[in-house]
Amino acid sequence: MNKAPKTDLNDPSFHDENAARERLERLLWPNGPVCPRCHVGSERIVKMEGKTTRPGLYNCRDCRKPFTVTVGTVFERSHIPLHKWLLAGHFLMCSKKGMSALQLSRMLGVTYEAAWFMFHRLRECAKVDPSGPLGGTNKVIEVDETYIGGKARNKAYGPAPKKHAVVALVEREGGVRSFHVANVDAKTLRPIVVKHASRKSYLMTDESGVYPKMGDEFAGHGTVNHSANEYVRSGGFIHSNSVESYFALLKRGLYGTFHSISEAHLPRYLAEFDFRLSHKKLSDTERGEALLSHAKGKRLMYRQPDETKDG
Ligand SMILES: [Zn+2]
Repeated sequence: MNKAPKTDLNDPSFHDENAARERLERLLWPNGPVCPRCHVGSERIVKMEGKTTRPGLYNCRDCRKPFTVTVGTVFERSHIPLHKWLLAGHFLMCSKKGMSALQLSRMLGVTYEAAWFMFHRLRECAKVDPSGPLGGTNKVIEVDETYIGGKARNKAYGPAPKKHAVVALVEREGGVRSFHVANVDAKTLRPIVVKHASRKSYLMTDESGVYPKMGDEFAGHGTVNHSANEYVRSGGFIHSNSVESYFALLKRGLYGTFHSISEAHLPRYLAEFDFRLSHKKLSDTERGEALLSHAKGKRLMYRQPDETKDG
């Protein structure tokens, strides 16, 4: 019998501003408050606790400027209560195929525009600078390309929308990194593959002509013959099931949840899906916290001209 999954939507940080702020402080300042300007911590920071002081305000002894935990994060100067931001991050990270801004707006009681803005800010958190390449000795990295979009729902409305090429690297039982690329020739793909895949890894690709030379740079190279429907060979080792599943999930999510994906926003959606899949071993709560812990340095205060429509 299946055990009922644990849900923590009752956590006070999802309902109460002070609890939300304290939770964010724990996530962003694991060793205590740090001045966002001088980056000093501990004894250089004073908590301000006057009667008229709003909660969560600190003062830096070095620059003598007050700050809160949201300074320099995607939450800075937002009029949306912090507890709603935390909920949005949690929802985004526990929805396998993503969630539409319309759904979020209904769940949080915020306008569609606000919900749309929140999700895009949170997707910025999912853009994490990689600490190093995927894979390593005895690790397998599957690489494949696909096209997003390009299917006209009704040809009467004009030409088919543009297709966007995406290449993904999936370490089996490990992280995922995907990239929007101008095309899928060796010249474009090689720099991405050798940067994000450790050469000590075993590379697994299809039989496309772009990979054999690249494959020589790795500890080993296996190829999967899609056309023969020959997914499992050599005792099940030669396959690209991980990257195929990733693309299947990405497409179900993008086509099912969103009306259209504009080229400008595609990298954010890829970051969202990469982050979720790369942290799939965590619980929903842990994954939501992992996302929030990357809220620093992602502040985007002004809306871009292209951010007024969905996608
Ligand atoms: Zn300071």
